[in-house]
Amino acid sequence: MRCPWCASVEDRVVDSREVEQGEAIRRRRECLGCGRRFTTYERAAEAVIWVLKRSGQRVPFERAKVAAGVRAACKNRPVREDEIETLAAQVEEAMREHGPQVTSEQIGRAVLERLRLLDDVASVRFASVYKGFEDVGDFARELGLEPPPSDLPTG
Ligand SMILES: [Zn+2]
Repeated sequence: MRCPWCASVEDRVVDSREVEQGEAIRRRRECLGCGRRFTTYERAAEAVIWVLKRSGQRVPFERAKVAAGVRAACKNRPVREDEIETLAAQVEEAMREHGPQVTSEQIGRAVLERLRLLDDVASVRFASVYKGFEDVGDFARELGLEPPPSDLPTG
């Protein structure tokens, strides 16, 4: 695994543990070139849904990001947290059927279809704001619900 700081390919694993209810293994690695540590995640390839962004970048689908975007749109609306979680799970399920690669637009549309059934105002908010952003995670960040992504490489 190439070191994110010095590009050395020599490293040793200093810690391995199961995360995400056993669906992934997190490894702490120490670079033998510069001595710095970084983290990698290992999981079955079939389990990952890839999201193709407009920029051409591919990132793993994250249900929590979808929930955060929906939660932002539902602010001060009578939508319960469990309804938001259910919606995010349904969107993940739908994307899994389209997978292994989907576009951020597909996710946005899938959210909208379901959010419309829960709350009109929230769905209009989501539609109007979402279209200007790269993905639903950006939408959540814009509304201050999520810190910006860390600059530190995680592997
Ligand atoms: Zn290094």
